Amino acid sequence: MIRPAPSADAVDAVLPQTQCTRCGFPDCAAYAAAVSRRDAPINRCPPGGPDTIEALAALTGQPPSPLDPACGVHAPRAVAVVDEARCIGCTICIEACPVDAIVGAPKRMHAVIDALCSGCGLCVAPCPVDCIAMRPAGRPWSDADADAARARHRARAARLERGERIADRRAGAAPAPAGDPDRERRQAAVAMAMERARARRAKASAAP
Ligand code: SF4
Ligand code: SF4
Ligand code: SF4
Repeated sequence: MIRPAPSADAVDAVLPQTQCTRCGFPDCAAYAAAVSRRDAPINRCPPGGPDTIEALAALTGQPPSPLDPACGVHAPRAVAVVDEARCIGCTICIEACPVDAIVGAPKRMHAVIDALCSGCGLCVAPCPVDCIAMRPAGRPWSDADADAARARHRARAARLERGERIADRRAGAAPAPAGDPDRERRQAAVAMAMERARARRAKASAAP
């Protein structure tokens, strides 16, 4: 008996949500839709690696196969780090980040919020002064991270649909209502990231 195709949402639920585009699709949801339609093989997600292939095989009834090397390799999570001394505050990386993991304002230094960074690497190439590098992350990417990244990516997509740039939004848009858990988490993460950046800069300027 042929197994019914899983819904795109069911497929999306087992993808890691780094939104890295390495599968050849613009985001995890687009790859999920293609797998659901059986228009894409199940072995194209390097961040998910063998675990994701197994999950997709179980969902779709297709046999698991090795990760397609044309998509990249499965590697431990990395996070982006900005060399703040060289950052010119152009905001390009903020717009490039698919999960809103970068904070900063025009002409100010920018910083990556480690906890939100999916390691997609999409901010590295657009930086005009090459001041973003990928470093090993302190911990792996969890299911909770994936769920939160999906929500942020969807919020970003809705914002782009409305033609808003995040730099503009951060400059003047109304914030999420008080008590909103994502807002609280983001505010705490932003405050910590900015504090770490300030401390690093103060240490650097105090050095002989
Ligand atoms: S994590 Fe990257 S490779 Fe995997 S489905 Fe999402 S966008 Fe594609
Ligand atoms: S900060 Fe860079 S590497 Fe991290 S999620 Fe954003 S674009 Fe990807
Ligand atoms: S793209 Fe590079 S120079 Fe521009 S704000 Fe981001 S880190 Fe700074």
